[in-house]
Formats: sequence, C-alpha cells, structure tokens
Amino acid sequence: MRVVKPVALLSPDAAHLRPLQLAERTRRQPIVPVLGRAPRVHLWHIGCQMNDADHEDLAEQLADIGFVPDAALDDADLAVLITCAVRQNAEQKVYGKFKELLPWKRQRPGRAIALTGCMGVEHGSSLLDRLPELDYVFDVRESDGFMAKLQALYAADLDGPVALPASDRLSAYVPVIGGCNEMCTYCIVPFVRGREQSRTVEQVVEDVHGLVERGVREVTLLGQNVNSYRCPRSGAGLPELMCAVDAVPGLWRMRFLTSHPRNAVPGLFEAMRDLRTACEQLHLPVQAGDDELLRRMRRVYSVAHYMSIIERARATVPDMALTTDIIAGFSGETEAEFAGTERLMRTVRFDTVHLAAYSVRPGTAAARRPDDVPAEEKKRRLNHLLALQREIAAEINATWVGRDVEVLVEGVAADGRAYGRTRQGKVAYLPAGAARAGELHTATVRAASAWQLDCTAVQAAA
Ligand code: SAM
Ligand code: SF4
Repeated sequence: MRVVKPVALLSPDAAHLRPLQLAERTRRQPIVPVLGRAPRVHLWHIGCQMNDADHEDLAEQLADIGFVPDAALDDADLAVLITCAVRQNAEQKVYGKFKELLPWKRQRPGRAIALTGCMGVEHGSSLLDRLPELDYVFDVRESDGFMAKLQALYAADLDGPVALPASDRLSAYVPVIGGCNEMCTYCIVPFVRGREQSRTVEQVVEDVHGLVERGVREVTLLGQNVNSYRCPRSGAGLPELMCAVDAVPGLWRMRFLTSHPRNAVPGLFEAMRDLRTACEQLHLPVQAGDDELLRRMRRVYSVAHYMSIIERARATVPDMALTTDIIAGFSGETEAEFAGTERLMRTVRFDTVHLAAYSVRPGTAAARRPDDVPAEEKKRRLNHLLALQREIAAEINATWVGRDVEVLVEGVAADGRAYGRTRQGKVAYLPAGAARAGELHTATVRAASAWQLDCTAVQAAA
C-alpha cells in the first residue's frame, strides 16, 4: 500500500530539506524488549489523512517483520511519532507528545522513541540534538532502512510475521498519489512529501479488494493533489481510476481527497454522478476569495474560475456537498482582500470550511514575505469566518429536514443512538436501538444543526 519515492527538491529556498536517510543516536542504550515476547510498538499520528494512511501502512510493515503494532503505550517497547509540519501548532503538539513520552521512556531502560512524517524530513537529524531522548528519525517514504535496523536489533525476539487483528474499520484511506507538484507559496508539503508519484490502477484496485475482504465498506482515494492522478502504466486519470474501484464487489462507497481546482475536470464530476459508489461530496480547497491574494499564494486560478468550476460540478452532481479549506491572515492580507474571502463564502455557501490562521513555514516562498497580520487580527478574522460558516452550515443542513438520506452506521453513542455519515459526508444520528455498526440505512431527517442531522424512520438498505 506504500507510495515510496524519493524527494526531489523544488526550490533553492528549501535546500536544507533533503531526502532523509535513517538518522540514529550513536551513543544510546541498547533497546531491550521484555524478554520472551515479540516487541511491541506504540504508533501515534497527527495531521492530515495521509498520516492516517501512513500509520496503517507502518502497522502492516511492522507486523510483517514480527512486531506487534498499535500496542498501548504502557505495554510498548518502542514509540513511533508520525508527525505533521503544515502549521507551527501541529509541530508544537508533536513536541508536547514527545514530552509526555519522557517518563514512559525512563520508566524502563531499553525503551526507544522514533520520529517520522513531515517534521522528520523538515528538521532531519538535527532533531536528535534538539531532543536528547529521541533515538531515531526516518523518512516514512523510505522506511526500509528503519525496518532493517529494527529487525537487526530485535532479531532474537522475532518469530515471523504477526497476524493483525481483523479491522473494525468500515472506512479506509487508500493513497493513490504521493507528493505535490504545486508550489503554493505558504505550503511546506511539496518539500517534505516530494514530487507527485502515482500508483498504478492495478495496485489501488488490489488494495481496495483486500480492504473489502477485511470488512471495509467505504474508501477514500487519497492524494495531496488527487485529481492530478495519472496511472504510470496506462495513463488513466482519476475518473478512470474511480471507475475501476467502483467495480470492486462489496464496496459501498467511494470518496476522494484532496482536489486542486486546477485539475477539476468535467469527467470527474460525471464519474461522481454516474458511478454507483461515488459519494456526492467534493472537497475543493479555495484558500482565499480575492484574486490578488490567490496570486500571492500562487494558486493559479481566479475567483471567477473557481466559481465556474463549482457551478459545473453542482449542475452535474445533484445534492452534492461542497467543502473547502481557507487560510485567514496570509502575508499582506488587507481588509479588502479578507472581505473578498467573506464574500466568496456567502456566495458559494460551502457545507464545511476547514479554516486555519496563516502559519509561516520556513523554507517556503511566503516565508520571505512579512508575517504582517498581527496574531490578534488573524484570530479575529478566523473567528469571524467560523461564526459565518456556522450560520451557513445550519441553514444548509436545515434544507435536509424532511428528506431521506443514506447513512452508513459507524457506531453507537453513549446514549444508545447510532451514528454515521450520509453520502454527503454529514454526521447523522439514528434513534436508539434502530441500527448497528456496519449497516447501511435509509433514514428521514427530522431535525438539523450546523454539525449534524437527527433522523427517524429507519429502513435497512444493506
Ligand atoms: N492540497 C490541498 C490543496 O490544494 O489545497 C491541501 C493540502 S494541505 C496539507 C491542507 C491545508 O492546510 C491547505 O488546504 C491549507 O488550507 C492549509 N495550510 C497549508 N499550509 C498552511 C500554512 N502555512 N498556514 C496555514 N494553513 C496552511
Ligand atoms: Fe500544499 Fe495543496 Fe498547494 Fe500542494 S496544492 S502546495 S499540498 S496547498
């Protein structure tokens, strides 16, 4: 399931962000697992869906070489942190988690801590100087060296591949393209994830078959820029890939994330409309609602172009939910530019907006410009847009009252009500006792808020 390819540097600004070899502390205590059992690994991740997928992938690789992955921390010999570098506060959370691990590590000699993910590539082996109790830093796309090191260190305790317990997941992320060739000026992803690299249609379909066999019913095809997917063998694009995945027997739903507006082609919307499993949900990050701001972000589209794409998408896919990402307080963002973003939100009326305050990322082009919107003002703008979005989401969800929705039930809440998601990706609750996890139901929306739909009149669909 891995998308493992070397990083190519895209900008002299990022010369320090090199492909990362396994880095380890030279003088450290030997790692000693509890005698007489396979070593146990605690995996922790933060950040985007790609890290979620990397977590699953590392768990499989560790199990293949005889480790027990996803152990509770108290029981673990090794902790692996899968990190995010997209914003400064994500990095702060990683340092916070690392601090939490210190008493755990000191409690029993022989425990070790490894760090991977975007912060690993961003800071490289300098993390070993900064964090004296850190033992390894490795590149999640080049994990073979780390796995070989673990195999050598623990050889005596390894007893062949470990069977992973059956997944209780109904939904899974399937990476289809790694890296990103866009160069949005604020974003560190192209530096830490490298150039775009697609997997073949056959590899993706094989993964989906395997997941369905293990009980998964919904897959999300994943990439930082998923709609620039191009099969290296056949040249197939995302619509053709979706068509192949749709044909997997036993799969109920398919989504895809994240699309750059640049490659949102009509064939994509037609695939969303026509394919049995394709859900009516489009995540199309806009980032800002002002042409000059978009130019400074190097997003390569105008507001008018973005509007024309969503017009076409909405005309093609009935009942489509539209979600987006927006950054508030980017370098030099004026009141007038900010007003443009607010106007865009009022005009488009997104179902969900992932809002973030601009965070300077060293090495990016925007880091050379002043971070001149004061923190308090960024917060004000962010809160203003959050409040606006809450209103819009409540209004949109209210239009679902009285209508039927399809709910894939994911679990049962403490109060006995079943919960899951609609095809549009909205959280929906069903009456207590009406449904169990793993079931597909048709339900009628009785009430709605900005965050969820409350449903009645349940009828099992599968
Ligand atoms: N590839 C997607 C796209 O085309 O927009 C987004 C992937 S990025 C990992 C997820 C989101 O993080 C972006 O859409 C953007 O809103 C946000 N983001 C990235 N860099 C950021 C920064 N320096 N400060 C604040 N938000 C940032
Ligand atoms: Fe970052 Fe997305 Fe732009 Fe790529 S397209 S540079 S991941 S914001």
